[in-house]
Amino acid sequence: MLKIEELHASIEDKEILRGVNLQLKPGEVHAIMGPNGSGKSTLASVLIGREGYQVSGSVAYEGQDLLTLSPEERAAAGVFLAFQHPVEIPGVGNMYFMRTALNSLRRQRGEEELDPVDFLALAQEKMKLVEMDPTFMNRSVNEGFSGGEKKRNEILQMAILEPKLAILDETDSGLDIDALRVVASGVNALRSEGRSMLVITHHQRLLDYIVPDQVHVMTAGRIVRSGDKDLAVELEAHGYTGTQEADADRL
Ligand code: ADP
Ligand code: MG
Ligand code: MG
Repeated sequence: MLKIEELHASIEDKEILRGVNLQLKPGEVHAIMGPNGSGKSTLASVLIGREGYQVSGSVAYEGQDLLTLSPEERAAAGVFLAFQHPVEIPGVGNMYFMRTALNSLRRQRGEEELDPVDFLALAQEKMKLVEMDPTFMNRSVNEGFSGGEKKRNEILQMAILEPKLAILDETDSGLDIDALRVVASGVNALRSEGRSMLVITHHQRLLDYIVPDQVHVMTAGRIVRSGDKDLAVELEAHGYTGTQEADADRL
């Protein structure tokens, strides 16, 4: 599904990603943890094709060279990012926004667009996944939404767009336990054989609900450790400091 090799990324000559290697098989969910400023969000941005980075290395996605695709082509190919800080778009209705996003993908894939009535039926179905009140569809995108509501809205968007590679950037930050559970159950409902997910998180707590196949630790722009879900528990107990040294001790 995804094979990242020696990925480097810089902004204004500041190197942020310093040789990332990562492989994700179809259906797998991997977590990326690591201290603030280690490059997790940058990795997500580079994968969806955000502009402004000097990038080198390779990213193969379903056999294609992802780095040569435009952001729109990546989205049409099924790559989705749920943002760490979802933007508010006053004056643009949530329903309209999501329908436009879906229809843009469908157009690029040569599929028929959904009219408002068909889209409403689809949206209502998906909203049950995130236990969202239907009135949220009539409001402006994220405007006045609480932190938890914004995150649910991101998961709803993911449910509607049905990506093949979903990247969730700190979908848990700022969530109380109820919102966390709802977001996690939405994510779990969207786990499937054909869909891989990269879950970026600061806290082990989310991984109690979304049990990952693998956990990676990113420090200073590199993945310095990988392991199973127990690694997340260990990190929660002992922190990130000394993870490289701890590795060296084991060798
Ligand atoms: P994380 O998501 O792990 O907290 P980020 O990827 O957001 O880390 O940031 C990694 C480093 O890159 C930080 O030192 C951050 O200040 C820097 N950085 C991120 N975006 C920019 C930018 N647009 N311009 C300059 N530096 C940036
Ligand atoms: Mg951060
Ligand atoms: Mg971040």
